[in-house]
Amino acid sequence: MIVEIEKLSVEYTGIKALDDISFGIAEGDFLGIIGPNGAGKSTLFRCMLGLHTQYDGTIRFFGQNIKDSKKHLSQIGFVPQKPVIDKNFPATVREIISMSQNSNDSKKVEEVLQKVWMHELADRRIGDLSIGQQQRIFIAKALVNSPRILILDEPVIGLDVYNQDLFFQILSELNTKEKISIIWSSHDLDAVERLANKVACLNKTLFFHGISQEFFSDDEMLKKYSETSMQMHMHHH
Ligand code: ADP
Repeated sequence: MIVEIEKLSVEYTGIKALDDISFGIAEGDFLGIIGPNGAGKSTLFRCMLGLHTQYDGTIRFFGQNIKDSKKHLSQIGFVPQKPVIDKNFPATVREIISMSQNSNDSKKVEEVLQKVWMHELADRRIGDLSIGQQQRIFIAKALVNSPRILILDEPVIGLDVYNQDLFFQILSELNTKEKISIIWSSHDLDAVERLANKVACLNKTLFFHGISQEFFSDDEMLKKYSETSMQMHMHHH
């Protein structure tokens, strides 16, 4: 296991966001984390990324407790939700990616742009690109330090179907060709079924973790999922 989450619980003042979550991620996994709004997906990522440290339980990356060392961060690329870039932001694509780089290797910048099929736009201003293109640049930015794991927090919200498909093709290639493990949260059950080999179904507690086909062929489980999503949905309105 390259990531081990053991009995993870997080409580914000009075609100339990994660309740006794345990699961592991194996090298090469493409894990889809599904769960309704407020299920604790972002909280889980913030804990993994060392941004939220007030939790009970243990998180290990590559066998090491992340409370003892932040070394794991150099192995993780993070792609946030839809980027918000000012139209007038003066930096070019190349500059944006170089900024995240630990070393100064211009070949590497070209290489990651090729991986997201954006090398022809390297000298364009980022603000001039479409949202779909910008989101691919954010994958390239996450790849520039050669991570072994990519974490994506609902990355395709607001993208049209064409750009979502491009985005998913790129993720699949990174997983199969580059052997990058992927942890990806999504609302989109169809996309998770198509892409992920493992599924974690989260709603404060983890009520399924395992092989994707098992989840999607289990009618009881799908029913349980849609019921909790619905409850959460009604709760929010
Ligand atoms: P998701 O990403 O699945 O939508 P979150 O992790 O953002 O879920 O939120 C889980 C729960 O924790 C929600 O009830 C949310 O309102 C609450 N929450 C998230 N962040 C904070 C915070 N900084 N302070 C208080 N409550 C929070």
